[in-house]
Amino acid sequence: MMERKVVSVVHGGMIITMDEEQRVFRDGGIVIEDDKIKAIGESGDILGRFSHVADHIIDLTGHILLPGFINSHVHSSQQLARGIADDVDLMTWLHHRIWPYESSMTEDDSYLSTLLCGIELIHSGVTCFAEAGGQHVSGMARAVSLLGLRACLTESTMDSGHGLPPSWTTRTTHHCIQSQKDNYHNYHNTAQGRIRIWFGIRQIMNSTNHLLIQTRDAANQLKTGIHMHVAEIPYENQLVMDAHKVDHGTVTYLAKIDFLRNNLLAAHSVWIDNNEISLLSRAGVKVSHCPAAAMRMLGFAPVREMLDAGICVSLGTDGAPSNNRMSIVDEMYLASLINKGREVYANGTTDPTALPAETILKMATVNGAKSVLWDDELGSLEVGKKADIVVVNPLSWPMAPVHDCISSIVYCMRSENVVSVMCNGLWIMKNKKIINVDEEEVILKAMQASVEILKRAGIKLPTRMNII
Ligand SMILES: [Zn+2]
Repeated sequence: MMERKVVSVVHGGMIITMDEEQRVFRDGGIVIEDDKIKAIGESGDILGRFSHVADHIIDLTGHILLPGFINSHVHSSQQLARGIADDVDLMTWLHHRIWPYESSMTEDDSYLSTLLCGIELIHSGVTCFAEAGGQHVSGMARAVSLLGLRACLTESTMDSGHGLPPSWTTRTTHHCIQSQKDNYHNYHNTAQGRIRIWFGIRQIMNSTNHLLIQTRDAANQLKTGIHMHVAEIPYENQLVMDAHKVDHGTVTYLAKIDFLRNNLLAAHSVWIDNNEISLLSRAGVKVSHCPAAAMRMLGFAPVREMLDAGICVSLGTDGAPSNNRMSIVDEMYLASLINKGREVYANGTTDPTALPAETILKMATVNGAKSVLWDDELGSLEVGKKADIVVVNPLSWPMAPVHDCISSIVYCMRSENVVSVMCNGLWIMKNKKIINVDEEEVILKAMQASVEILKRAGIKLPTRMNII
């Protein structure tokens, strides 16, 4: 006998669908059947047609509903390292803080770190994230599965380079590829299909040519994505030019070895020229723009130019030690401001029309879904798509009054306005309470674990000011 499906109706709220017609229902309703959206429209119509078959009817009058936000560049393993590398240069950040920290993590640390990270992501309305490459995929998968989130998980992958911690220097190309294939076989499509496994290249400075080629081919064969930091700093481009005799940086070289494909998610992509923008566009490469991290350490990415060239640009928070806020809500606000401000930087005049609110909202939803190769099911509220929904309460001091709901979401909303989050048809946060884990308990355990990791890694932070 087939089990009867659970039907829920939410109604009364303003629904920003992000569908192709950009429909917004002032008083809308959604019918959710198990994990999918069965119907969407005006509340009266939806209630008339479905209230008699609904198991749950939820009145969301006064709220705004959106598709779950997609954070396309997150280091979930770095959450316990928040604050260990503030106000230091990039090489100190990497060689003396982050690598020693990451290489000292246990599987349980990855689990706790991802739990803590996931809690913060959910509070900002994220239902799906793309892991940038971290430690212990098994720990990440346990946490994502428990929280009820959706994620594309990736292992931190390097097979060469300077300054690596001793335990990482023994990793061969073969080991890197095999380990990721094992992850794929163990975790891909697990947690009711909420977890997907991707391949990762941490960055070109830590990759042999063999690793690049084998990663490209393995991801192609398994029909999954590749997540890679690309063109982060001028030094990276210079190294590539010196080593491979190409006339510009990483993107030019990746094009030369046929690495640029439509399953590549390139994080940052700050130091690229016009020709490289064309190369990315032609290959269908997706770009994750991480405004806070870019401002802190990398520079102004040519986001307007990439969007104008037809590149799918989405938004990411990056990791806690380079942001330190893991809120996609804050990134939406920053992305718009930074890219308006960049016009001032470039030619001395401001341009308030650069990256308007509707573009930013698209980056956090529709483009996010395309970036994680999941746009057939995610990114908008439409019939047949997964029920990943954010519920916003605008009736509090950060947002009130709301004259223009689209600009209010981008320029006024804070994470505090996100009250409930549904992923895959189930509430994972309701009335600001995380449903599947005890938030206080996770915070306590995470704080203890973070101190232990720093001890094991031998990381000593200099004291600031005159702390007595
Ligand atoms: Zn990153």
